[in-house]
Amino acid sequence: MDRPTMSIILPVFNEEETLPELDRRLQGLLGELGETWEVLFVNDGSRDKSLPMLKEMCAREPRYRLLSFARNFGHQAAITAGVDRAEGEAVVIMDADLQDPPEVVRDMIAKWREGFDVVYGVRKKREGETWFKLVTASLFYRLLRSMIRIEIPIDAGDFRLMSRSVVLSLRALRETHRFVRGMVAWVGFRQTAVYYDRPARFAGETKYPFRKMLKFALDGIASFSTVPLRIATWLGIGAGLVGIGAAGWAVWTRIFNGETVPGWTTIMIAVSLGSSAQLLMTGILGEYVGRTYEEVKRRPLYVVAEEVNLAREERR
Ligand code: UDP
Ligand code: MG
Repeated sequence: MDRPTMSIILPVFNEEETLPELDRRLQGLLGELGETWEVLFVNDGSRDKSLPMLKEMCAREPRYRLLSFARNFGHQAAITAGVDRAEGEAVVIMDADLQDPPEVVRDMIAKWREGFDVVYGVRKKREGETWFKLVTASLFYRLLRSMIRIEIPIDAGDFRLMSRSVVLSLRALRETHRFVRGMVAWVGFRQTAVYYDRPARFAGETKYPFRKMLKFALDGIASFSTVPLRIATWLGIGAGLVGIGAAGWAVWTRIFNGETVPGWTTIMIAVSLGSSAQLLMTGILGEYVGRTYEEVKRRPLYVVAEEVNLAREERR
């Protein structure tokens, strides 16, 4: 089988309402592009009609391919499966809810032809998102950037085009807790941005409830930074200095003023602040220890139950 020029990866989790429109928009775009292509749908354990709909789409269009997971492994795992199996010279990761407009792919290809290896989409405007999501997302990216050494672009999601060199490098990173946009930044190569207005979801609701968002944010920080662990050291040094100062002052007043410091309140405050800091740091430590445990198990990142229109898996 000849390698297509373009692969488009689409993670799908309960997207029955958007699939027909997605199909239409993809056909429109791919018809116009005049490139050889494949579309790789990754069904991430959908519980609605997405799977039969995808199968039906694949039966009609041989350039549609489908990987179907045995259960819901999460968005980042679905992207990974796509990256593992995409054959194209250029590989695009896109959301299935049409929040990443297929038409932006045209600009990405143009940049790729200019010689860039990664072209990521930066959202100028975001419609239909709650202010809570906008504020937390913006704070998160700024916090993350302050803690890590690699350049992770602000306001960019996973919508991006990657050259085959980048895809092959990414396949070598098998960590369990995955923050794909950080991993792409980590591999390097020539990277650039295209800007677009991010529309609201076409239909249905977000598959990233707060719980998943929080997990995702923690994965992002913990897999690229150990700064939180160092906070313990600084906190310890700070508390030590305050302690020495307070002790000096207590001895001083005892000797020169002959009075002891009355201090139930101060002791209570110091003890409760001190113990909460310790518990917090134990928690942070636990996050890292837990992740280390998950990583050493080296479980596969996903389990595929079914494949349609796909060549047999190449041995890595
Ligand atoms: N998704 C997935 N598995 C999940 C959650 C989401 O494959 O567990 C897919 C979903 O179908 C969509 C993309 O990941 O194609 C992004 O999800 P969503 O649009 O819900 O996220 P948001 O845009 O709200 O951040
Ligand atoms: Mg979305």
